[in-house]
Amino acid sequence: MVLPYAEPTDLSIAADAVRAVEPWVAVAYLIAGVLFILALRGLSSPATSRAGNRYGMAGMLIAVVTTLITHELANLGEIVIAIAIGGAIGFVIARRISMTAMPQLVAAFHSLVGLAAVLVAVAAFLNPSAFGILGLDGNILAVTRVEMALGAAIGAITFSGSVIAFAKLNGSMSGAPILLPMRHAINLGILLAIIALTAAFAVATEAGPGEGALFWIIVALAFVVGFLLIIPIGGADMPVVVSMLNSYSGWAAAAMGFTLHNSAMIITGALVGSSGAILSYIMCRAMNRSFVSVIAGGFGAEAAAGPAGAARIDRPWKRGSADDAAFLLKEANQVIVIPGYGMAVAQAQHVLREMGDTLKEQGVAVKYAIHPVAGRMPGHMNVLLAEANVPYDDVFELEDINHEFAQTDVAFVIGANDVVNPAAKTDRSSPIYGMPVFDVGKAKTVMFIKRSMGGAGYSGVDNEVFYMDRTMMLLGDAKKMVEEINKALHD
Ligand code: NDP
Repeated sequence: MVLPYAEPTDLSIAADAVRAVEPWVAVAYLIAGVLFILALRGLSSPATSRAGNRYGMAGMLIAVVTTLITHELANLGEIVIAIAIGGAIGFVIARRISMTAMPQLVAAFHSLVGLAAVLVAVAAFLNPSAFGILGLDGNILAVTRVEMALGAAIGAITFSGSVIAFAKLNGSMSGAPILLPMRHAINLGILLAIIALTAAFAVATEAGPGEGALFWIIVALAFVVGFLLIIPIGGADMPVVVSMLNSYSGWAAAAMGFTLHNSAMIITGALVGSSGAILSYIMCRAMNRSFVSVIAGGFGAEAAAGPAGAARIDRPWKRGSADDAAFLLKEANQVIVIPGYGMAVAQAQHVLREMGDTLKEQGVAVKYAIHPVAGRMPGHMNVLLAEANVPYDDVFELEDINHEFAQTDVAFVIGANDVVNPAAKTDRSSPIYGMPVFDVGKAKTVMFIKRSMGGAGYSGVDNEVFYMDRTMMLLGDAKKMVEEINKALHD
């Protein structure tokens, strides 16, 4: 049976018909949901991530096809053309995007999910009979109004928040926090206003200008809140923002799924929302931030407002060459490699793995230490090392390896900075204060690959490790430097 979706003559039938889903449709959506869960499970490890992606694609195909064939669509041709154009754009972007630009791409995609939720809510509000959401009295049901307002509000917050996150990650606007006076009171006031307006919108009985105004004010205020929540966040706290917006985009989709009585949308939205929330929680733990203050926004702002010192290039430091580094590495019993954003920029992961293999052949124990926020997206370093075939057994999380630096001969920092910065432990005014970091300063020798003494890490603060007696600065592009070290190791 095809569900009556076009203009109904009897409004009560319209609402009931959309809810009366045929068994095969429910089963198809359930299968899609199971495939999405398998996708998330697969994506939890680099070894199974490709399979995870395939499960996700299969689930989405089933969900889209099922939705298309259960509705009588006058404009199927236009929908297929739109999917083809959108799919082609997505395909080209995915092929061209560099790994270092991935976080801003993810933020941009989140903004589209948020905007889509707003547009669906607007369409449902403007033409409720086409969506089958009218009650017996010819009005949109109260519960549906709440779902619709929530979906539109969360979608609008996700949209404007993601646009700001995109601009900050892309460098189109400064990553520094913008702190408005009384921002917490303003945010809270607007959120309370949205809740009150949603309640008024839910009980509005007469369709008319007043009802329309309530809906549009909710949407406008939500756009403002998304903007206000993200502008105070800066420096090293952006990873949490990206995962939080990911979560919001899921909840927006789930709310719209309730409005449209579409179980696939509810399942998918809830999966994205809850997995994003779990990721935000994990990132918060890694950054030593409170989960509640993340949701409230502006959580890193007080600390970030402190003096983010630029690199102090006038202090004494020691420069080493690739030959010096190779000599010390060969002599070492244990080397711990700490990769960071610079390794991703230089695409040095393959030559790094070659270096590790050579050292292992020479009897040196080589381990790779990954910080949860190293790079510019969660799992960034894991993906790059997996791509270079670094054995998973050689890769360790922060808490599993940090105690080993005191017994390590060389801490080999390649393109990392914030994640090895002791200011996170000692300097209360630092934007990264409170974040757990690798204790590389405890190793006998620290080798630090970066391009210049002037360049700071993402949070823009100087690093005391550069100036330690036991630190050897290896200045240059990470890939070129490791290639030279590899050459020297073979000489
Ligand atoms: P950082 O951004 O702290 O440091 C990167 C280092 O790499 C800099 O010292 C830079 O110095 C060096 N570098 C850049 N390009 C090259 C190159 N081609 N060759 C050699 N070195 C290079 O990176 P970390 O990984 O230590 O820390 C990640 C930071 O990013 C944290 O503050 C984190 O909070 C933040 N962040 C993380 C996200 C995530 O999800 N993981 C998302 C958004 C932000 P120089 O310029 O002198 O070469």
